[in-house]
Amino acid sequence: MKYDVDRPIKADKRLPAGVADRLPDGIADETARREFFMREAIKLAKTAADAGDVPVGCVIVRHNEIIAAAYNEREKEKCATYHAETLAIERACRALGGWRLVACEMFVTLEPCPMCAGAIANARVPKLYIGAPDPKGGAAGGMFDLFKTNVNHKPEIFRDVLADECGELLKSFFGKWR
Ligand SMILES: [Zn+2]
Repeated sequence: MKYDVDRPIKADKRLPAGVADRLPDGIADETARREFFMREAIKLAKTAADAGDVPVGCVIVRHNEIIAAAYNEREKEKCATYHAETLAIERACRALGGWRLVACEMFVTLEPCPMCAGAIANARVPKLYIGAPDPKGGAAGGMFDLFKTNVNHKPEIFRDVLADECGELLKSFFGKWR
């Protein structure tokens, strides 16, 4: 099947409240662009923390438009697979009407776990931007690196995008709950 990278998005993106629809005009610098989208993911991570969930947020962007956004809802929805990335991938697939996230970029505040790294490979996400590293549970070089195996798809990975801000969020969350 041939994939149209410019195919229109269905109207029902249903982004969580307060999330930007797209990159504002005037941001031409690549670093500023990455940080803009990571800040949207950080907003979502804060929403997760407010609900008692580990603060992880994720946005999926296509042509500088946010097509899906999610945050960790494991506690809120009492479901082990409701990580920010899996929820965002599901929503992006629905928005695009297909499971291959061609021409998409994922911004996530914490290095993905093995489940999410697997989902990222399965969805063929071309570019992955990571905020904070996760030396204990990360599957993109922290605990191990799924993308250094023979997995059938490897995204291009950009690390440490606002890593300090993303990490602080986690630190203060665990400080509060311990
Ligand atoms: Zn995960």
